[in-house]
Amino acid sequence: MLEALIVFVFGLIVGSFCNVVIYRLPQGKSIVIPGSQCRSCSNSIRPWDNIPLLSYVLLRGRCRYCKEPISPRYLAVELTSGIFYFLLWYKLGFGLPFVLYGLLTSTLLVVALIDFDHKIIPNVITLPGLMIGLGLSFCALPITPLASLLGLLIGSTLFYLIALVSKGGMGGGDIKLIAMIGAFLGWQGALFTIFSGALLGSLVGVTLMLLGMKGRKDKVPFGPFLSCGAILFILSGDDLIHWYFDVLS
Ligand SMILES: [Zn+2]
Repeated sequence: MLEALIVFVFGLIVGSFCNVVIYRLPQGKSIVIPGSQCRSCSNSIRPWDNIPLLSYVLLRGRCRYCKEPISPRYLAVELTSGIFYFLLWYKLGFGLPFVLYGLLTSTLLVVALIDFDHKIIPNVITLPGLMIGLGLSFCALPITPLASLLGLLIGSTLFYLIALVSKGGMGGGDIKLIAMIGAFLGWQGALFTIFSGALLGSLVGVTLMLLGMKGRKDKVPFGPFLSCGAILFILSGDDLIHWYFDVLS
């Protein structure tokens, strides 16, 4: 019970750092210096006002100085991160896999929200990411280097062909993102991510169109759905795939 709580709080703190990266990285700002500032009045946020979850509740979601509301998304990202780390711990226990998949999950959370905000997926994340994934397959990940290499190539080749045919329907950022995901999760993970990401994306796209919130031509970023698909695979991949084949057979 205590372990579960520690893992959840750790996830909240990581989520708080993810918020900083999501906000600052696309602006080319340092993610370390300066410390947190209010986005309305630029006052420095004191450490005791910067405690994940708790400070937001105690300050009732407002800046201590200018009383401007703080976006509830900060809280949502922290909570999501806390839940992810709890689920990872529940599935994997402590150890190297917990660290590696935790790192990947947080990276995907950051990528999803940067793509949602700015319609870009930074190369500075995905290019080192795909090299690290391939490198780790030699020593730390539960997949072979061949599975990692196939994962890196299979989705990115497919997306590249779609980009050629659709003339801009698929961005370069998506190609590098699925390459990174495949390098970490192998070809099975890459295929699962593409399948579930496309399914989620179409469901959300059709829903938004029916609600009249998006036109047929409006671009919906694909990165958040790919990230969701990959995180789904990390948290329950084996179980879902077994269930799928059990239903078919
Ligand atoms: Zn303020």
